[in-house]
Amino acid sequence: MTQKLNSSEVAQASQSLQSACENLSKLKNEELHCELKNRVAEERKLTHQILQIIIEIDLRKLYLPMACSSLFDYLVREIGYTPASAQRRIDAARMMQQVPELGNKIENGTLKLTQVSQVQQVLRLAKKANKTQLLPSEKSDLLARLENKTGPESELILAKEFNLSPQTQFKQKIQKDESVRIELTLSKEQMEILDRAKELLSHALPGATFAEVITSLAQRYVKQRTGVNTSVKKHKSPSPSTESNSAAEVKGTQNISGKPIPSSVRKRILSPNLGCQFKDSRTGKICGSKHFLQVDHIKPRFAGGGNESFNLRPMCSSHNKFRYTAGC
Ligand SMILES: [Zn+2]
Repeated sequence: MTQKLNSSEVAQASQSLQSACENLSKLKNEELHCELKNRVAEERKLTHQILQIIIEIDLRKLYLPMACSSLFDYLVREIGYTPASAQRRIDAARMMQQVPELGNKIENGTLKLTQVSQVQQVLRLAKKANKTQLLPSEKSDLLARLENKTGPESELILAKEFNLSPQTQFKQKIQKDESVRIELTLSKEQMEILDRAKELLSHALPGATFAEVITSLAQRYVKQRTGVNTSVKKHKSPSPSTESNSAAEVKGTQNISGKPIPSSVRKRILSPNLGCQFKDSRTGKICGSKHFLQVDHIKPRFAGGGNESFNLRPMCSSHNKFRYTAGC
């Protein structure tokens, strides 16, 4: 169990950390190396504790009264994780519920969150394709085989284990800002060449993405063949999200009893501009989710509420269910 620090302990810990950081320039190389190793070990221990807290929050569905439509939504909007970081922690926390020893493996560094997330992704694919699920003991065995492996090594083990056929189809999609999303498969040798080019360009383009590397190489080729300099505006990538951006899904809009809600009214209430209107009674925060929206009666039908516009509002399915189960 995690222990809550009181305010003076927090202040003391923060002060000692600050003083340690101020003295870093005085440390010898070996001491500095040890300092980092110790801090990283503490970070892993903290990650284990965070996963335990996430499990408890998930079990209590604590995010619902806080106007978050899901655990993912809560970790991103309330806690401040990026979508990818939130998903990795959810994947690891849920796996830890079935394979409790996973926590210690994360804490001692033999397994990383990204590897657990890779396993969860593959298991989701396998469940969809074969409708089969691994037993907790089989999941435990699988995780044991990934210990101390790198990300690509784990990926290879999982691809072979689940017989995942390589996706070779080229996909190209024009997005609303006219950028183009491309999905392609490179052979091992092609990827090595691209990695090498990225490495050689690392001084000219530090931290470049593959899109920037490919563009830079193309610009050089165009210049070499035509003498023309081409330039590109800096493209701001949208943050990755595991949630789809599809329009609100229309579900459950007919009353248990009485007349159905007229389609024109339903359409207006479920307008994509309006998100879920569930409000956190403590903070006044509105959920705002645009996924799986349903029409909610402010005054329920069973209490005499009607289909008038002023009695209707959009609500995500999680909060609609929560509202009635929690009686709020
Ligand atoms: Zn909601």
